Parts: sequence; C-alpha cells; structure tokens
Amino acid sequence: MNDRKETSYIHGGRDQNHDPFGSLTSPLYQTSTFSFDQAEIGEARFAGLDSGYVYTRMGNPTVTQFEERMAIAERAECALAFSSGMAAISAVLFTHVKSGEHILASDGIYGATYSLLKQMKERYKISFTYVDFNDLEHVETKLKKKTTLVLLETPINPTMKMSSITAVSAFAKKHDLLIAVDNTFATPYLQQPLTLGADLVIHSATKYIGGHGDVIAGVVAGSHELIKDVRSYAQKNIGAVLSPFDAWLLLRGMKTLAIRMDRHCANAKKIARRLAKHPKVKTVLFPGDPSFSDYELARTQMKDSGGMISFHIDGNKDDVFAFLNELTMIPLAVSLGDAETLISHPASTTHASIALKDRNRMGITNSLLRLSVGLEHYADIWKDLRQALQKLS
Ligand SMILES: *Cc1c(COP(=O)(O)O)cnc(C)c1O
Repeated sequence: MNDRKETSYIHGGRDQNHDPFGSLTSPLYQTSTFSFDQAEIGEARFAGLDSGYVYTRMGNPTVTQFEERMAIAERAECALAFSSGMAAISAVLFTHVKSGEHILASDGIYGATYSLLKQMKERYKISFTYVDFNDLEHVETKLKKKTTLVLLETPINPTMKMSSITAVSAFAKKHDLLIAVDNTFATPYLQQPLTLGADLVIHSATKYIGGHGDVIAGVVAGSHELIKDVRSYAQKNIGAVLSPFDAWLLLRGMKTLAIRMDRHCANAKKIARRLAKHPKVKTVLFPGDPSFSDYELARTQMKDSGGMISFHIDGNKDDVFAFLNELTMIPLAVSLGDAETLISHPASTTHASIALKDRNRMGITNSLLRLSVGLEHYADIWKDLRQALQKLS
C-alpha cells in the first residue's frame, strides 16, 4: 500500500469485495447476517477456524474496509470502528481499566468523557485525576499504586491547549501505564500519536474523518495485542458497532480528508488573523498564532495548525449571545469538522455540566466561543463574523 497519506485515504483498506461488476466504490454490505453454504462452514467460523463473516456485530466487509483504512492512516496494526466517539472511548476504558484502578486524564477533557469518568467512579470504583500534562513533575505526584491509564487529548476542546505526545508517552512508559490519545481535533493527517509513542489512538470520526456532518462514529486504533481485547470484549459484547452504511459514508468522506484539512487549516489561519485584529475580540486561542502559548509545540507536533479557533469576545454573556444571534451564514451548533463553519458557546452547551469553578480554571468562561472553520470561501466566513461583531456596541 502506498504510504503517502493522500493516496492511502483513497485506496487504503483491502478491497473486500472483488466486486463481480467492477464497481469503483466499495459496495455497501447492508446486511445483518451472512449465510453459510454448508453447516461445516458455520461451525468453522464460530470456532475461529474460518475468517469469513458471520454476523455484522462481529464484522462486516464495509466496516472492515473502513477499519483498515483508519489503521493505515494512524500507522496502527489494526483499528476498530464504533457507533460513536463516546462508544470508542468507553470501549477503551471498559476494556483496559478495571475496578479499583486509577486514570490520569487531561484537565479540560471532552465534556462527555468527563461525565463518563464521573460515572465510572460512582458505579465501578474507577478513580481519576485531572492533570496538566505540561507539568510532568507535578503529574508524577498524582500517581497512585493503581494508576494504569493515561487519557490524553491534544489539542484540547475548546481551550486549544496542547501537550507533547512524545513527552507524555515517555512518562507513561516509565511508569508502566497505557496511554490513549484522543486525536479527534488533529486527525491523522496533522498528527499520528502512535508514531510519537502512544499505545492507542481514539477518534470521534463524526468530525473531520466523516467531514460532512452526516454520521456519528468512533474509532480505536493500536497494536493487535491491545485491540484484541477491545474487539472481543467491547465491540462484540457491549456491541456499539458501526453500521455498514455509516462505514460507507466514512470511506467516502475519508477520500477527501487531506484536501479538506489543507483548506480548513488555510481558512482558519486567515480567520484567526482577522479575529485577533478586531477590537471586539479580546483573545484568540489558535495553535497557528505565534502569540499562542503552545505555538512552538504545535509547529513541531502537528503538520499544520488545524481548523479550530477559540476566541474571547470583549463583553459579557449578553454580548456574546447577541453576537451569536446576529450571525446569518454560520450556524450555531456543536460538533466540528464539517464543510459548514460552525460556532458554539461551550460554557452554556458542551461544557455546561462541568462545575463553574472547574470551568473557570480551565478558561471556559462566558466570553469564550469555539469556531470550527469550514470550507466556504474565507471572505464569506469573515464577512459574517465581522458584521455580527460590528453590531456589538
Ligand atoms: C465529539 C468528540 C467526542 C465524542 O464523539 P461522538 O462521536 O460525539 O460520540 C470525543 N472527543 C472529542 C475531542 C470530540 O470532539
């Protein structure tokens, strides 16, 4: 298989089908079950002696092709697809952390991951500590005898704070911890955590991987050894599997991942520069801005600065809401990575369930907005933002 990203996003994954009609695109195997020509074959498949398909919860050719393409994209031995990013994150946690054990997680981690960890603590006695992985000496003081997993997100949603995957992976190795990285914001096009020392990489494929805002999906990738248990325990028995049609949409979306990311990045740079100069904008948080705290890390760790920008409006919550209500083209919506530019107000939506004190510590205040810069002409994106900013007194 060709190693170049652009090519592997289009051709990656074994063609499962050997389509008799020579279909260019992967056929969609929209089926729940697979029939066996002979009783002996059914027996062999259940015994694991024949690799053919049995039942879509345990594997489907369209889903397999997507998994193989993602494994290639992340330089992983294998990958598994799930029905959502949260299903992928829970699959990793439920498989690789046991009752009584302890997790170190990025402070400011994705909102639903935050709620999941809280539930796991209350129901299954799996504890966790939020840490700033940029201060590993301090993180070391938070280690417990039963710490087994590091859950890292970089850049982090919505503060854009970054951590060195290489340094945190080395820390994890030193202390014999497994390290999983949520790579949703960067995508494998901009950063490949496994090549920097991580053990597992997780995606909400709902975002840039799908790229068209029409599918909810997740992925976990890593070594055969680490994925084996995720497959048999979480994918097969918990069963939050990806549907064949969604896998088909993701295969389609992935073909354009590289060119979409290039445009997302180029547009974001132009918009970030304009926002930074606007008098109604107090601060811009963007990895491609030289004044951003993690600018140097972004330059070395990521191929480009990404399509996400957060910024603080100079004003209170009423001003921020007034600005949002003035936008005409840009929809107010959570999610990210779509062709459409999307804007969201984390403090009142995705991060509302986080205690106010914690939210303030993380910098998720009422003046903060998160912009997923889309694929429209940048001048139209800026035109809409500017006219809404101008209306603020
Ligand atoms: C959206 C998102 C998730 C959750 O993914 P779903 O597909 O919505 O379940 C997890 N992590 C990050 C960073 C996300 O942006």
